Amino acid sequence: MADNFIREIIDRDLENGKNEKRVHTRFPPEPNGYLHIGHAKSICLNFGLAEIYNGLCNIRFDDTNPETEDDEYVESIKEDIKWLGLDWGNRLYHASDYFEQIYAYAVKLIEKGKAYVCDLDLEKIREYRGTIKEQGKESPYRNRSIEENLDLFERMRNGEFEEGACVLRAKINMMSPNMIMRDPIIYRIRKESHYRTGDKWCIYPLYDFTHCLSDSIEEITHSICTLEFETRRELYDWFLDELELHHPQQIEFARLNLGYTVMSKRRLLELVDEGFVDGWDDPRMPTLSGLRRRGYTPVSIRNFCERIGVSKFNSIIDLVVLENSVREDLNKHAARVMGVLRPLKIVITNYPEDKEEELEAVNNPEDEAMGVRKVPFSREIYIEQDDFQEEPHKKFFRLSPGKEVRLRYAYFIKCEKVIKDDKTGEIKEVRCTYDPATRGGDAADGRKVKGTLHWVSTRHAYQAKVRLYDSLFTKRDPNEVDEGENWKSNFNPASLETLEECFIEPSVKSAAKGTRYQFERQGYFCVDPVDSEEGKPVFNRIVPLRDTWSKIQIKA
Ligand code: ATP
Ligand code: MG
Repeated sequence: MADNFIREIIDRDLENGKNEKRVHTRFPPEPNGYLHIGHAKSICLNFGLAEIYNGLCNIRFDDTNPETEDDEYVESIKEDIKWLGLDWGNRLYHASDYFEQIYAYAVKLIEKGKAYVCDLDLEKIREYRGTIKEQGKESPYRNRSIEENLDLFERMRNGEFEEGACVLRAKINMMSPNMIMRDPIIYRIRKESHYRTGDKWCIYPLYDFTHCLSDSIEEITHSICTLEFETRRELYDWFLDELELHHPQQIEFARLNLGYTVMSKRRLLELVDEGFVDGWDDPRMPTLSGLRRRGYTPVSIRNFCERIGVSKFNSIIDLVVLENSVREDLNKHAARVMGVLRPLKIVITNYPEDKEEELEAVNNPEDEAMGVRKVPFSREIYIEQDDFQEEPHKKFFRLSPGKEVRLRYAYFIKCEKVIKDDKTGEIKEVRCTYDPATRGGDAADGRKVKGTLHWVSTRHAYQAKVRLYDSLFTKRDPNEVDEGENWKSNFNPASLETLEECFIEPSVKSAAKGTRYQFERQGYFCVDPVDSEEGKPVFNRIVPLRDTWSKIQIKA
């Protein structure tokens, strides 16, 4: 990990012998959705710091909200973290494991005269809190006696009150310039089953109270979170100081924002629930499960997180940075094959009808060890429709009438004739001749051609479905909306394009789910792990080869 301001803080702490020179971090997801690439940044940071300093990193499910949390999310989060290649050993915890302890700390605050049961409803509490410009007003229940508060709090726990009837609040300072410090709520009544503790509890601690205590209980040393929590640090510190507990240091860094997508779990859930996408693992989603299904590698995501670094300033990272990291990885490791996405039939008229041959193709020029394979060739092949122009524009160096091009690993072919549909005028096939003296792709007489095309033999190729993706939203910051619209108006209806009639070379036919390839000139593709069947792969395009994004951004 490159040097950053968090490492500087830790270095200083170690020099000063703070925390017995331990480094212990944690990643604290709330199991109310799937992890996204922003979480990956936090995971890599927390695990990365633990690794550099020979420390430890816990996973802790921050599960204090019975309405929204679920085991499905817990399982997906574990799977995603494992997939990233990180290991929490036996340090997987749940805030809900500490409910009894957290309750005891709340009682202790009451005993110190630092917490009280308040009967104001939420609206009144908000009203009494004041604004940034206006001081808050004290609740009429603020000066209840310690005995009364202890009694009421216990009765809250025992289920004697309805939801919303009362809450437990910290007694801090209604005049504080920091709104967070104006007697925040620390417990509320919720008569709902919790996915782990069931109906044992009907009061639940709020995030701010739970988080610092859980960190403290686990003897975390550096509690790293995103910038929104900066104003809450004062409260984090207040609880731990009042309760005189081990006191981790909260450190805030800028969250990851990626262009042309959204990152809030609430919004991602909305996209899933309202059918904009096919689920949390839709390959267009910025979730780790979506990226995995799309074909992103764990290494590419970790490299991305390393590359974007850690800072105190919010910004939007360009998608191309993420795309480049997967290109870089797959360029070295993915086998190259040929597949034609939008087929145009070529008939090579001077190639014998019943002849077939196998031509040698290199699997990855970046890695000789990946070897070579045989690609079958015959009289009829497919090339891409856009590799042919009947009336070529000036800079078009691919196939057009009278012109010669190279078929990769095969022969030079020359276009002789275009066959069209009588009625529609649509091009049905293109007739070419080949030069047998160019076998392998080079002319014996040294003549050159400008274009090299990929192709497949129609007789040998097999048909496959291919999905191409564009960004999920049409705006770099989808949260920017025009008058009278909402962020979903920026959804990109062209984010998915499905091609049903693609033809792929036979070597890929029995590819296992999740295998990644480079289709020459078309990009990197992954055999979809969900929709593929034996012998019937569906390919997701992970990224095109070149970065088409830079062009779009210049226009914008
Ligand atoms: P979201 O805002 O996406 O709903 P969250 O903060 O509610 O995320 P949590 O499950 O609470 O989600 O997050 C777990 C950890 O991941 C927290 O420490 C949080 O700060 C961090 N995190 C969440 N989003 C990002 C992000 N975009 N970039 C970096 N870290 C993030
Ligand atoms: Mg959160």
